[in-house]
Amino acid sequence: MDHVISGVAKFQREVFPNKRAVFKKLANEQNPEVLFITCADSRIDPCLVTQTEPGELFICRNAGNVVPPHSDQTGGMTASIEFAVAALGVSHIVLCGHTDCGAMKGAIDPDSLEGLPHVKEWLGHCWHAADKVRQRCGHLGNDNLEEVTRENVLLQLEHLRSHPSVVAGLREGNIKLHGWVYNIGTGEVECYDEEKLAFVPMKQAYAKK
Ligand code: ZN
Repeated sequence: MDHVISGVAKFQREVFPNKRAVFKKLANEQNPEVLFITCADSRIDPCLVTQTEPGELFICRNAGNVVPPHSDQTGGMTASIEFAVAALGVSHIVLCGHTDCGAMKGAIDPDSLEGLPHVKEWLGHCWHAADKVRQRCGHLGNDNLEEVTRENVLLQLEHLRSHPSVVAGLREGNIKLHGWVYNIGTGEVECYDEEKLAFVPMKQAYAKK
């Protein structure tokens, strides 16, 4: 923890003074273009990976980059999505999964989640993705991790489309959804291509757009 605390001092001493104007502007307003939803995994740094600055990404993180389907029950994700879309007016939503995701391993093997009742219930929002892979492959194990991770990104995008603010944004053409998988070991990002109905390297996915 010591290096975290001394890190704040370093930030105040060495970083903040060089970006004083940016932070002054941000002090009383934010206008992010992108809602970035990803896993809470410590190895993901959304601003580092996307090379963005404070104020550019509205970030929501949780185990498994889950978006619960919209319901009458208020939760942190539902409220944050509503705020980002309806109040801040983000024009893009990135749903970013990642390699070696512990939550996806849990979704593949729910028995390993005994003693973690809340994690188990939370990952109930992912079972459908794991099940789809099981049906397609005839079995479900750790060798399906990549496929479950991708399928989960698509499932959570589907859940996103059930949130009223997102429905309205899509209908009015104000919002675009993006499904990504970030590879921690290589730095690569693959993106879902809606025309090819497959994940492709980022360069390819955005080449024509
Ligand atoms: Zn994860």
